[in-house]
Amino acid sequence: MIGLNSFSVYSGLEDPVTKYAKPPFKGQKQGWPGLAGKMDPVPDHGELSYKGSDRLLGRKALITGGDSGIGRAAAIAYAREGADVAINYLPAEESDAKEVIDLIKAEGRLAIAIPGDLREEAFCKLLVDEAVKGLGGLDILVNNAGRQQAKASILDISTEDFDATMKTNIYAPFWITKAALPHLKPGSVIIATTSVQATDPSEDLFDYAQTKAANTSYVRSLAKQLGPKGIRVNGVAPGPIWTALQVSGGATIEKLKNFGGDTPLGRPGQPAELGSIYVQLAAADASYSTGQIYGAAGGSGQP
Ligand code: NAD
Ligand code: MG
Repeated sequence: MIGLNSFSVYSGLEDPVTKYAKPPFKGQKQGWPGLAGKMDPVPDHGELSYKGSDRLLGRKALITGGDSGIGRAAAIAYAREGADVAINYLPAEESDAKEVIDLIKAEGRLAIAIPGDLREEAFCKLLVDEAVKGLGGLDILVNNAGRQQAKASILDISTEDFDATMKTNIYAPFWITKAALPHLKPGSVIIATTSVQATDPSEDLFDYAQTKAANTSYVRSLAKQLGPKGIRVNGVAPGPIWTALQVSGGATIEKLKNFGGDTPLGRPGQPAELGSIYVQLAAADASYSTGQIYGAAGGSGQP
């Protein structure tokens, strides 16, 4: 695991430039969807560092893609802030998911594991039902799961690839949100993980970038629709973050070797650096923030 530098222990200051690993990274490739536990270096999701202060005490959260990466960082942070947490992931990710479930339980919170494929509408409905049943309600929905497969040319993207990316990144949040809405009382929040790709798409992420633009519009439209009902809707737009998505087809091996190297901080973000953002957007004291996209991109890109 990547640790904090010792400087921080003495001064309370942490230099964001030297805080985490920088490129060059080892070229690596895993089969999709990839496991955080097999990455080198293993990402930091806040396992040893996130400290809660009851900001989400008694809240009930469902996080898709909660097994690894950004979703895992949110799950750990939520549990340490006092929330009960349900996570969804693919059956192939059971080993990553089990670590998260154990971490949530270690906080004395309810931890509900609901594996299944979000490309199926019937499963999305079942997911919400199971989460509501297991948690005894729902007031934080984090649509975070995502599929990203880099392809040099549009000619390399099959209809099946295109469809899988659209189903995972656009249809699943639509289906899940429809199923969740009847359970969301005033004060509840919806958070989407979008991307800097929404506004500055890379040439080799033609299909993915379109879905992230859709995720940003999902936030901005739904916030207007649900504002009068007292439900806030916000998004997080990360830049390059060191996660399994990137080593399982999301980025080429060449790109991975210098991953995050072209940002002003000169390194990729770690999922742990985003956990507090998901907490802030869910917390009741952020009550006037809705329809916003919060960036975390090391100084590059726009939310
Ligand atoms: P990750 O691989 O750790 O998490 C993505 C998760 O999506 C997987 O763990 C998996 O459980 C889930 N998923 C994918 N397809 C699924 C399916 N069909 N059914 C159920 N679950 C499925 O990677 P991450 O980078 O933490 O990704 C989380 C979100 O962050 C995604 O929406 C991604 O687009 C977004 N994002 C990532 C980056 C980055 O650089 N890593 C940058 C911007 C946005
Ligand atoms: Mg995963």
